[in-house]
Amino acid sequence: MSGRWIEVADGVYARRYVELDQTLGLVVGDTFCLVIDTGTDEVHGASMAAAVRFVTPLPWSVVITHAHFDHFLGTNAFLPAAVIAHERCRSVILADGDMQRRSWSARFRSDGKAEQADRLATAKLVAPNEVITSSAMVDLGGRAVMLTHPGPAHTDHDVFVHVPDVDVVFAGDLVEQGAPPSVGPDSHVSDWPAALDAILALNPVTVVPGHGDPVDADFVRRQRDELSRMR
Ligand SMILES: [Zn+2]
Repeated sequence: MSGRWIEVADGVYARRYVELDQTLGLVVGDTFCLVIDTGTDEVHGASMAAAVRFVTPLPWSVVITHAHFDHFLGTNAFLPAAVIAHERCRSVILADGDMQRRSWSARFRSDGKAEQADRLATAKLVAPNEVITSSAMVDLGGRAVMLTHPGPAHTDHDVFVHVPDVDVVFAGDLVEQGAPPSVGPDSHVSDWPAALDAILALNPVTVVPGHGDPVDADFVRRQRDELSRMR
């Protein structure tokens, strides 16, 4: 699975994929690196892991921004590792992960994407092994990143990643570029603008969405206004 790196700041990278217009993340410190989301299946996860190794030999931790299949089904390719997520993200992966795997596999198959369907159907479900409830700091050595749950929004357990020394935020699917925000049955549209305000309060220079290209704060502001009109 081919992707391409964008270095959004010193030692901070977004990896872009054509499939689902998806964007995974990497933050490199002096002693550790942090991988943000693991992709749609283990082949995708393994290709991301290999791409990370092209950038850095440092040991990694993984953060899962939320429990939608394309963000966590690649995790097995990164083990052994600390896999960090909101506590409800862990619960949803355990409760609904298999259903998501089967229904999305069927959807890829009916779209004529048999190879992807097979990869998805065989991806191992990995539950996060470190959970947070509101926020946590991850020390990468010479660089600390903050993980924050801003309240219900795209899901009830989104986590965004703030890299304060370069003013970058990895937003998961709280922000989407190239398409409108993905509102699903598990979304909380009325609370979502407040979650984007929490990101904007950090005065980010660059916000990396879960799908699409990195954006600036003005883009996030417009998406917030759009969501405010929807509710
Ligand atoms: Zn999502």
